[in-house]
Amino acid sequence: MLEKARVAEVIPMLDTDATLFTRIINREIPADILYEDDLCIVINDIAPQAPVHMLVIPKQVIPRLADASCEDQPILGHLMWVAAEVARDAGVDEAFRLVVNNGEGAGQTVFHLHVHVLAGKTGSPMFSEADIG
Ligand code: AMP
Repeated sequence: MLEKARVAEVIPMLDTDATLFTRIINREIPADILYEDDLCIVINDIAPQAPVHMLVIPKQVIPRLADASCEDQPILGHLMWVAAEVARDAGVDEAFRLVVNNGEGAGQTVFHLHVHVLAGKTGSPMFSEADIG
């Protein structure tokens, strides 16, 4: 078996350090893709914590929201706009919630910024204070 560094050398286009979401964006890993444009992609969460649970993911890798720079404001705004668009497409634009987990302590598990779009009744810990829908 080739070492990771050797694989990257042999196949220059292969970025073995790509995040899980970059690999989904690059179609290396299958996902339920709901929306895509030049800046972001929207997929269904593989382990939904609500009847509607989508992830809005920038193509640009920003590990955590706290790592975003001043120059990233346009993409951050775009993610919010797309979140509302896909909520409308899913028929939940009257009641949905956005969640961004920042850092391990907040439950972030994939270090590629993403916005959770959640709607519908749920008993998930992510909504322990109040159900929606
Ligand atoms: P977070 O814990 O805020 O980093 O959110 C990461 C989310 O990615 C979790 O809700 C996971 O269920 C979801 N997730 C992990 N792997 C996949 C995948 N292959 N396709 C879709 N969603 C995924």
